[in-house]
Amino acid sequence: MKDDLVVVTGAGGFIAGHLVAELRRQGYGRIRAVDIKPPDAWYQGFGDVENLCLDLNLRDNCTQAVKGAREVYNLAANMGGMGFIEKNKALCMLSVLINTHMLMAARESGVQRYFYSSSACVYNAEKQKDTSSPALKEEDAYPALAEDGYGWEKLFSERMCRHFREDFGLETRVARFHNVYGPHGTWDGGREKAPAAMCRKVIQAKISGRMEIEIWGSGERTRSFMYIDDCLEGIGHIMHSDILEPINLGSSELVSVNQLVDMVEEIAGVKLKRIYDPSAPQGVAGRNSDNTLIRKYLEWEPSTPLREGLAKTYAWIYDQYRKRERGEATTV
Ligand code: NAD
Repeated sequence: MKDDLVVVTGAGGFIAGHLVAELRRQGYGRIRAVDIKPPDAWYQGFGDVENLCLDLNLRDNCTQAVKGAREVYNLAANMGGMGFIEKNKALCMLSVLINTHMLMAARESGVQRYFYSSSACVYNAEKQKDTSSPALKEEDAYPALAEDGYGWEKLFSERMCRHFREDFGLETRVARFHNVYGPHGTWDGGREKAPAAMCRKVIQAKISGRMEIEIWGSGERTRSFMYIDDCLEGIGHIMHSDILEPINLGSSELVSVNQLVDMVEEIAGVKLKRIYDPSAPQGVAGRNSDNTLIRKYLEWEPSTPLREGLAKTYAWIYDQYRKRERGEATTV
């Protein structure tokens, strides 16, 4: 099995870049990594992997990407944190082209198993109106009232995975990721998510001596954040399981944005004046992952403490920040 071709899309990005690294560690000998970005702009690149630069919005490119593959992990998407998805709804929805063409190509070329990365943004907004809203169970995606743009596309595409399985026999597996963070991901430029943005802002304050930090919203919104290692382990389990319905893959350690900032400050050894911007994009009031189903199926759930994962993420972003200051090449 480990000699069969495995394809990972979005491999120039954060999660899929780590996934390629993990598959190599596990001894997969034939990996094809695909992204629209040229390989020199990928967060992680490996010389012993087949690296392809293809726009997967196009059907023919998806056919080329999956040719000969036994397993496909489709993580390519045009996405970013709240700041990006609130202002680029059409672009987010256009990822439907990637997901449609990838499924069609996988079916045609006889792919044995297909993984799709959905998101907690599929959940009904009405169930996330309070900072203390109950954690989201898988059934809370319906009746549908997903995050506008990005979330609707994810919900549609995960449903398309189901119907390709039911109607065409393509073995699809779907995980709903809840905020993933870690090293080798976007940390600046507008697409970064809260943990990376907080690390960067704290580093900037510490280095510049301007001891203040701007926080989007009131700091009271709540979220959970999953460390990348847990995400990779979960992807592996779900891909090779019999879990047919979309399942939560997220941490259940709920924190407020203020608590997230407390942790980063503590790691950095600074205390900053907080300036809140209520007009900035913030997303739903409260969101957590209910892990009852994943525990039932796998007797496992993501468990890296946020403080521990943040320390590693902070250290990596600190390095990138310093490199950029010295004028050395970095990937944001
Ligand atoms: P990322 O932006 O770092 O990686 C996505 C990659 O897809 C990028 O490298 C991008 O260049 C590539 N891509 C975009 N359009 C493409 C195209 N047309 N053809 C080929 N490649 C294309 O994002 P990520 O955080 O690694 O997310 C990976 C997947 O996980 C995405 O599907 C995302 O929606 C999902 N997800 C992520 C999170 C999270 O917290 N990071 C949460 C929920 C879901």
